[in-house]
Amino acid sequence: MKTVRLLLGDQLNPLHPWFEQVDPEVLYVLMEVRQETDYVLHHAQKILAIFAGMRSLAEQLRSAGHQVRYLTIDDPGNRQSLTGNLEAVLSETKAGRFEWQAPDEYRLDIQLDAWFAGSGYAGGKTSSMHFLANRFEARNLFAGKKQWRMENFYRHMRRKHGVLLEPDGDPVGGQWNFDAENRKPWRGQPPEPVDRRPQHDHTALWQAICSAGVRSFGDNSASALRWPVNRDEALQMLDAFIREALPHFGDYQDAMSTSAARLFHSLLSFALNVKMLHPREVIAAAETAWRNGHAPLAAVEGFIRQILGWREYIRGVYWAHMPGYDSNNALGHDAPLPAWFWTGNTRMRCLQESIGNSLKHAHAHHIQRLMVIGNFALLAGLDPQALHRWYLGIYIDAFEWVELPNTLGMSQFADGGLLASKPYAASAAYMHRMGDYCRGCVYKRDQRIGPEACPYNALYWDFHLRHAERLSKNPRIGMVYRNLAAMDTAETDAIRQHAAALRARLDAL
Ligand code: FAD
Repeated sequence: MKTVRLLLGDQLNPLHPWFEQVDPEVLYVLMEVRQETDYVLHHAQKILAIFAGMRSLAEQLRSAGHQVRYLTIDDPGNRQSLTGNLEAVLSETKAGRFEWQAPDEYRLDIQLDAWFAGSGYAGGKTSSMHFLANRFEARNLFAGKKQWRMENFYRHMRRKHGVLLEPDGDPVGGQWNFDAENRKPWRGQPPEPVDRRPQHDHTALWQAICSAGVRSFGDNSASALRWPVNRDEALQMLDAFIREALPHFGDYQDAMSTSAARLFHSLLSFALNVKMLHPREVIAAAETAWRNGHAPLAAVEGFIRQILGWREYIRGVYWAHMPGYDSNNALGHDAPLPAWFWTGNTRMRCLQESIGNSLKHAHAHHIQRLMVIGNFALLAGLDPQALHRWYLGIYIDAFEWVELPNTLGMSQFADGGLLASKPYAASAAYMHRMGDYCRGCVYKRDQRIGPEACPYNALYWDFHLRHAERLSKNPRIGMVYRNLAAMDTAETDAIRQHAAALRARLDAL
């Protein structure tokens, strides 16, 4: 009996056990479909990078002797939906079995489950073999708990997978977490590592995407795309990161700079999320660098925490709370996104830079996403669902399982504090401490009100005033409310008025 196996655009792992044997009775199907380009408006580079990766894997499988059916976006026979194309391929090939790898996004998981249940084919869903925790590991670990602390999950994962442990099971270096050492601003030294990512000319692919009518935004210079198309290229990026950037990753993890968009971050999220790389090998490479004396423990622990801790934990939050997590809006925020989210044309230099980088590279590092863009959205009261769609569309690494809890939970506190113990809210003082964005900005970082005052300041205090009922009892932000209590009414009234005026003209900031 012939078997059809589906590969999604984020299932580009050539080492999956499926490919261990060549079987002429198995047909692998990959498809570029409008269903996937159009569910939100996407950055051009995200569409290009995923399609290019799919085309590369299809070639690799063909040259290894596998049967492959590849549907391009402009193929006249393309029905532009996963299930529409599956029906056509299965009936044309007279296959009796259908198999697929578990999708990471809820919407695809239920779509394929429902379609398969009604299809009458034999077969079923198998693991993508990618993650280190199963979908419900976090839910089981936190059963009955009101708050889900990442740190507890992370220690569980360290112990379970034997990462950075002494033989007796204690953490190496005598502590689990070196975060307190990872908060230095970057003043230009050590130099930012050279960008060693591959470069590809995808002009023909871009023409096919455009001629099929796909809409997109962001920098679409297809002739020099810097994202890896296959595992070999991703491995080269990993190697360069470990050698050149990892030793400084910890120190400058939270830094921001107008002269270094990437700083010492790995840029590996795309390769990880489309499964060109396995998290285990990335973690092992970092741990080996420490054991060989090549990188300090604080840097290596900090990096490993992002992958073994945050990445797996975030996925656990997603699966424990879907469906429904996407409609959370605990703070009742509803302002539309300012138009400059699509252009970067704002006078606030930090946002100009962070949104500008996002539009240009389809990437921004974590602190730009969290403390510049997300922080502004939180303080200004932007609609978290609209923001979620923006983050899902713009970033090269954005897939709902990882983007949604980061945006709605960590950054917007829209889940009411399940994921974050307090809102990630900060005024211009934080921005100034961690980078050089305030230098040369038309707004004054040390003013709260007035035409030149940095908007983050009044919005910051106003945010806490507006949400005092919910937040003032939170011991982690007691200091903010003590400071507010020390202000007289005239001062808080002036802040409220200035913030209301700012919120009424966000497009003009
Ligand atoms: P590095 O700084 O080099 O970190 C190494 C790796 O750790 C990353 O590649 C990533 O796989 C993992 N990681 C780090 N932080 C997180 C985190 N909070 N959650 C999950 N994994 C993490 N990451 C995505 O992969 N996709 C998203 O759509 C996404 N959306 C985000 C939205 C918001 C509002 C915020 C605050 C963060 C988001 N992140 C997302 C997390 C993080 O910002 C990116 O993973 C990181 O910036 C990717 O760049 P990098 O590979 O250079 O990361």
